[in-house]
Amino acid sequence: MTKIGIIICGRYKTCGGGKCLRALRERVGAFARYPKNEAVEIVGYSYCGDCPGGNVEYVPEEMKKNGAEVIHLATGLVVGYPPCPNIRRFKELIEMKFEIPVVIGTHPIPLKYAQAHEKLSFWKSAGMEALAGGLMREDKKIQEAYN
Ligand code: SF4
Repeated sequence: MTKIGIIICGRYKTCGGGKCLRALRERVGAFARYPKNEAVEIVGYSYCGDCPGGNVEYVPEEMKKNGAEVIHLATGLVVGYPPCPNIRRFKELIEMKFEIPVVIGTHPIPLKYAQAHEKLSFWKSAGMEALAGGLMREDKKIQEAYN
């Protein structure tokens, strides 16, 4: 059993979490790291608090108290437009201050978002491949299913 917390981007704070929950069930996207025959429990789900992300200073503690062993920064931070400029800072802060590993991403990147981002001049230099590589190597059919 692995217990996880999810932090989503404030721009999508009304999101019902459908893609994240589906991806966890299907073990795709950033959840492919968890074996299908092992239980994963979401023990916290919140948003960053809107730009510049003040809730990231607090909410991981509550997740940790509830048993979180890993925190996922949702895929919306990677492929919302513009991508969150604070992803690296969030990861560093959470891992340093709360001593919980951070995984970048939740559900697969919807194919239409991936195709749009690949045309952007800054996308490659933004280093997302290194930061969220697993999401970038997702099967295109699966990405399309998350459009
Ligand atoms: S762009 Fe980053 S800081 Fe701004 S609302 Fe989204 S996750 Fe929060």
